[in-house]
Amino acid sequence: MIYIHIPFCKQACHYCDFHFSTNLKQKQAFLYALDKEIELQKDFFKEAVFPSSLSVPPPTKKTLKTIYFGGGTPSILEISELKAILEKVKSTFEVDKEAEITLEANPDDLTSLEFLKSLKEIGFNRLSIGIQSFEESFLKFMNRAHNAEEAKNCVKLAQKAGFDNISVDLIYGIQLPKKEIVFNAFENNFEKQSEGLKSNPHYFWRKDLEFALSLNIPHISAYCLTIEPKTPFGNSLKKGKLKPIDEEFAAQQFEILTETLKENGYVHYEISNFAKPNQFSKHNTAYWKDEPYLGLGASAHSYDGKNRFMNAANNRKYTESLNKNSLPKIIDELSENDRINEYFLTSLRTIWGIDLNHLIKKYNYNLLENQSKTVSKLVENQMVELKNDTVTLTEKGKLFADGIASNLFV
Ligand code: SF4
Repeated sequence: MIYIHIPFCKQACHYCDFHFSTNLKQKQAFLYALDKEIELQKDFFKEAVFPSSLSVPPPTKKTLKTIYFGGGTPSILEISELKAILEKVKSTFEVDKEAEITLEANPDDLTSLEFLKSLKEIGFNRLSIGIQSFEESFLKFMNRAHNAEEAKNCVKLAQKAGFDNISVDLIYGIQLPKKEIVFNAFENNFEKQSEGLKSNPHYFWRKDLEFALSLNIPHISAYCLTIEPKTPFGNSLKKGKLKPIDEEFAAQQFEILTETLKENGYVHYEISNFAKPNQFSKHNTAYWKDEPYLGLGASAHSYDGKNRFMNAANNRKYTESLNKNSLPKIIDELSENDRINEYFLTSLRTIWGIDLNHLIKKYNYNLLENQSKTVSKLVENQMVELKNDTVTLTEKGKLFADGIASNLFV
């Protein structure tokens, strides 16, 4: 699988700590460098180690099953630019005819039927749309580039253009600060907001979920708002202008999320991901199942089944390096223990859980022999279930996924 990071956005969302630039002047230089990087990485999968015990049938070394354009905002690119990247990938690697080819897109870029139809024509068959909320005041609070109307219309327009494999991203745990504190962008809505929230603190979250469900889409991803240090929200928190995330409030919204989506036929297949049966994201599933991936573009990570590589998270350094025919990556050598711990962190978040046989086959590590007390305690506390040679999280355990994984660390 291939991930392509397009590191440009129209404006900076207040919570975001991904790598992106709002300086579009660097775009052409970046695209030129990306083309070079694809060429230089043409043999990446020949050396990669694929897990033999997980995928059925196992992926062949040659054929790509998924291509994912993420960012940043890939939908900021012109159709001709996206087409050129896809053609380059297809002429360099062997791509499965049925490959899942996803574009991450923002609602403000999906306002024209013509653009959406062109995306289909050039080969995209899946959209992952960064809606985050259908509520205007929340969007303004987070400094999203789109408005509620665009959020509400883009999915229907994409469906009209022929996309049926659509995922939307939503954010929960949002509590607007008091009117007098900082952001006044949502002032007009404040009274309405207060009224709705007095009677039901989760009023807007329920409304967001209700609207998302009405769209009849196969996949929904939902993330808890986090306040990262080097972001506008992080600065506001430091200055005391923003309250920290209320963990209990967020946990209640997570429960509403899981219950509502389950009731509506979605499978909760990863902590933040829900899909109709058999409509899981193939790309993300492959990450979680320990398969190698090649990341292209500034800040992208790769994993060859043994080590991780990280591209420079700086557009200028990335392009300068490739202009000299040198890959802008550094190796993050993983010890056997690091790889096992990473596998715990990612697999435990999924419906498939930790595959005990995979651990033995790939890492020669027997979890039950080495950590019998910890596993028994977690089972006793109803945090995990041990069944059919797998360890999976219980509903209660899902609230503490990372903590549980770290308890098992080698
Ligand atoms: S559009 Fe996405 S990548 Fe860009 S700033 Fe907003 S959250 Fe970050």
